[in-house]
Amino acid sequence: MSTVEDLDERVCWEAVVDRDARFDQQFVFGVVTTGVFCKPSCRSRRALRRNVRFFRTPKGAEASGLRPCLRCRPTDDSATDLQWIRDLCELLREQGRSGERLTLGDLAKRVGKNPKTLRKQFQAAVGVTPRQYLESCRLETFREEVRAIDSITDAVYAAGFGSSSRLYERVDSFLGMTPSDYRDGGGGVEISYTWIEGDFGLLLVAATDRGLCSVEFGEDRESLLQKLADEFPTAVLSESSMKAGDAQFRAWVEGLGRTLRDGEVHPDLPLDVRGSAFRIKVWRYLQSIPRGETRSYGEVAAAVGQPLAARAVAGACAGNRVAVLIPCHRVIRANGDLGGYRWGTDRKEYLLAEERSRD
Ligand SMILES: [Zn+2]
Repeated sequence: MSTVEDLDERVCWEAVVDRDARFDQQFVFGVVTTGVFCKPSCRSRRALRRNVRFFRTPKGAEASGLRPCLRCRPTDDSATDLQWIRDLCELLREQGRSGERLTLGDLAKRVGKNPKTLRKQFQAAVGVTPRQYLESCRLETFREEVRAIDSITDAVYAAGFGSSSRLYERVDSFLGMTPSDYRDGGGGVEISYTWIEGDFGLLLVAATDRGLCSVEFGEDRESLLQKLADEFPTAVLSESSMKAGDAQFRAWVEGLGRTLRDGEVHPDLPLDVRGSAFRIKVWRYLQSIPRGETRSYGEVAAAVGQPLAARAVAGACAGNRVAVLIPCHRVIRANGDLGGYRWGTDRKEYLLAEERSRD
């Protein structure tokens, strides 16, 4: 009996134990001893983990000789047949690469649905509309090509964007910097930095003229500075004198200082961060978690519309370079363990304890 390899079995099993209906569209599970397969939310008695197998679709379970449960009726809901959605995702990824343009009507014809149903069911299963999915595919393609192709304009057209100005609008908000800066690894961008010391240890705070681009904890100045230089290899780094000429930067640093001291809930500080569309989405969500509260990696994954992507969420947390302002310390394991932290679990524990003690 074979199962689909790309399912994260640990996450699936947690969903089955919790009878989590959010996963009903994502997979079914079969029990080899009874020969029956169910939706994750099925109310019937739970089988032993070792007898359970996971399948992406009811068809997959049936192909393995299992029959649908009479209680939760996993085959009745046509929306659980995800094959056409996977086909559509593949089609959109191809378009993202080729730059071909199909209308919603064209897409609907290809998968045999009416356009309205297609958009609704696609969004329910994937978390974004087909158009948003296509845009993120195009951005991924663009990010891959922009480092390889010399001319930005070539990359713009290769990724299927009609005009470069429209791309700049979109990409700027995703990358946090212009495409040419991105290609150059921060090329020519001026980055000012300074130091904050407190109960939490030493902080290196760095910013472009657009916002804070790096806030990192560390033990000593030398290694922190080296990290910053590695991150932005072609940027011009300069230590801020924090005098009048640097008024904006100084205001940001003071704002960050206040955040650290008082735990201001929504610091209104501009950030200049780079990341994939997925990471940016995760980081934005993290900023909405109130001070003193935590979420599990799985909860964050579900909140950004990709319930099976808990591991990718952990990756996004590890890739966060703006400590505290993108509060990745508020994401912990579902069992209450702290999980990892880019700047050490002691600091994570300290930050969480501080936040809880203020409530
Ligand atoms: Zn069932």
